[in-house]
Amino acid sequence: MNHVHLHFSSPLLSFLKRKHQKPILSYNLQRKATIKDIIESLGVPHTEIGHIFADNREIDFCYRPSESRSIHIRHVDAPFNVFKPSLLRKQPLKEFRFIVDVNVGKLSQLLRLIGLDTAYIPDASDEEIAEAAHQQQRIVLTKDMGLLKRKKIIFGRFVKAIHPEQQLKEIVDFFGLKGPFKTFSRCLLCNSYILNVEKEVIFHRLEPKTKRYYSDFRICSSCGQIYWQGSHYEKLIAMLENISEEFVKGVSCCPANSSHQTKMN
Ligand SMILES: [Zn+2]
Repeated sequence: MNHVHLHFSSPLLSFLKRKHQKPILSYNLQRKATIKDIIESLGVPHTEIGHIFADNREIDFCYRPSESRSIHIRHVDAPFNVFKPSLLRKQPLKEFRFIVDVNVGKLSQLLRLIGLDTAYIPDASDEEIAEAAHQQQRIVLTKDMGLLKRKKIIFGRFVKAIHPEQQLKEIVDFFGLKGPFKTFSRCLLCNSYILNVEKEVIFHRLEPKTKRYYSDFRICSSCGQIYWQGSHYEKLIAMLENISEEFVKGVSCCPANSSHQTKMN
């Protein structure tokens, strides 16, 4: 029977099913499967793979091993340049846009907080997330390896960190996200831009203490959520600064923050 030797780079080993967790695997070719199908049947989502080589020649996901070969599978190196075409991802992205799965839902608010376009639909099915990622050219962020194996998803990342703040740092580092960040430019609830609004216009919607102590307000252009520099503001600034000073550069001129004390953790 024909078989291939699969060599996985170290960061990919943790994705392999336990019985396959070794750097070199001998895989019996029982059918004419693509290398994508073979790798994913062993556990590794295609989104985590940066390059594949068959006998030192770079190949794409459609390659079908048909004889004894040595195949090297490499992880995606950080920072991941999503704007450069590669053999595995021929159509690069034009900008950073994300879609966040429910299992890392709080990460969506942190990405929006630093101004990144981030879709999040808590009750979306895997199919709906994959379709939205495909239609809107978004990077899928999830802890669901099954979701990342869907063909429609070209760019995605398995989020390793547990805490939302660590997840934000992980994603910023992995994709090499750099400033200037448009911190406090998006609505945390719906992802739309927020705009300055005169106090008189929204006066009737404010609590008595807010009416008394605050004068600068912003409002979401889509859902109408009101933001101002309430007590929560300083905590958010400190939290962001703790992750990266880049996030808060120049934000002092921007009024912002929550009307219903949007909780971040
Ligand atoms: Zn909104």
